[in-house]
Amino acid sequence: MARSPEDRKAARAAASRRWRAAHPEVVRETNRLQYAAHREVRLSAARLWYAANLEKARATSRRWNAAHQDRARAAKRQWNAAHRETVREAARRWRATNPEAVRAAKHRWYAANKEAARDYQRRRRIAHPEIQIAQAQRRRAAKAGVLSTLTAAEWEAIKAHHKGRCVYCGKRTKMTQDHLVPFDKKGPHSMGNVLPSCQSCNSHKLTGPPLKPVQPLLL
Ligand SMILES: [Zn+2]
Repeated sequence: MARSPEDRKAARAAASRRWRAAHPEVVRETNRLQYAAHREVRLSAARLWYAANLEKARATSRRWNAAHQDRARAAKRQWNAAHRETVREAARRWRATNPEAVRAAKHRWYAANKEAARDYQRRRRIAHPEIQIAQAQRRRAAKAGVLSTLTAAEWEAIKAHHKGRCVYCGKRTKMTQDHLVPFDKKGPHSMGNVLPSCQSCNSHKLTGPPLKPVQPLLL
């Protein structure tokens, strides 16, 4: 019985399949060489297709990632390690545009890592006492019902303006925030009402006679 051209074609395809199944290494090597020889063309074709079929491509990669979680994670780690700056920049942008999500994630992390969180806070308190002091000042201002607008950057600017000196004695030491008009006289916690004062002068103000600010630039 004469075979039709279709039958001959199917027979050739079946023989080819059998041959490929029997020689996987040769097939792999041939594919690799083919790919290497046309890498640029194939990559640019893939990029074009990807740009034109974003949704489809994303769905495919989601499916693949779900089916190969370990490999997907490893690939992601590798890519991240090779593109540190890009990753950091993207994360910065995302945080800036999603403050609510950032807050929620922080809360979740604190809830799930209570011990580590307490340890982190403790180390932070020791390394940056000024953050704690600033928080305490804001709480005091809120309790006194006065305006509270002073930022960390503004406080740094105030200290720099006074060349790091206490406005009362002119000493260059660790500065505390002194309120020209105190909270109980409704003085605000703001740039115009906060002066750098050494601990000694700041405490003295509470008990002794009123101190007169000196002009540190004249010392
Ligand atoms: Zn002083």
